[in-house]
Amino acid sequence: MSTVPPPPLIQLQGISRRYGSGASELMALKGIDLQIAGGEFVAIMGPSGSGKSTAMNILGCLDTPSAGQYLFRGAHVEALSRDQRARLRRRYLGFVFQGFNLLARTSALENVELPLLYRGDAAVARRTAALRALQSVGLGGWERHTPAELSGGQQQRVAIARAIVTEPAVLLADEPTGNLDSQRSHEIMALLLALNRDQGITVLMVTHEPDMAAYARRLVHFLDGRIARDLLNPNPSPTPTPAPDAGAALPKPAAMGEAA
Ligand code: ADP
Repeated sequence: MSTVPPPPLIQLQGISRRYGSGASELMALKGIDLQIAGGEFVAIMGPSGSGKSTAMNILGCLDTPSAGQYLFRGAHVEALSRDQRARLRRRYLGFVFQGFNLLARTSALENVELPLLYRGDAAVARRTAALRALQSVGLGGWERHTPAELSGGQQQRVAIARAIVTEPAVLLADEPTGNLDSQRSHEIMALLLALNRDQGITVLMVTHEPDMAAYARRLVHFLDGRIARDLLNPNPSPTPTPAPDAGAALPKPAAMGEAA
């Protein structure tokens, strides 16, 4: 007896996105085909204006294509209502941005709890899951700190904890290391690799930095609204070993007992 294989996690078929009309019409995507299996780690590259953000917005169910089909686990996303897309997003997708996008006067813990609050989880469940997510990004002990009290690298860790607290199937990261120095960037890549490897989260990451793209197992290059190249990376960068001063990069807060 033959079994039917599961559909690919993500399938884009002939996806186009038009902005404007008439003389101001612009085709930001011109018939994209892309298939992504569960567990992949994909870097999306390409010059500014090549369509990366447009594609990420469609992949993230924040925007709909002008033409073509987007299947997520075999379901036609382009046919879903706005509410249905929002539900799909909340259930399956996590987002990480270049600018962290944390609430400023809100603790790390409350920032991470937010998606669970929107989902209607009870307070105790929210707290438990958020504490666990912060632990898993190496921020145990920092729960009470606000973004202003954290380094850029730590803020991005909080943002990653917020993205994974709902246990998404896919993490969409838009230039996640764009605001960080080189060492912090490599630490964030190590974290994304670990989430991909240990939790099986599919990672789609836009980056301009070849050093960061080198961690991905697949490199998709956009050019002028099309996919110009789609290559496997035969030698992804290994997980970076912590630098000698990694402890200094992530010091424990003085009053850890109180902070927890
Ligand atoms: P990238 O992320 O690779 O820089 P984008 O997807 O942002 O590229 O943009 C692709 C093209 O679509 C660009 O020419 C850009 O100017 C255009 N574009 C993007 N968003 C809009 C919009 N909301 N309205 C009109 N044109 C847009």
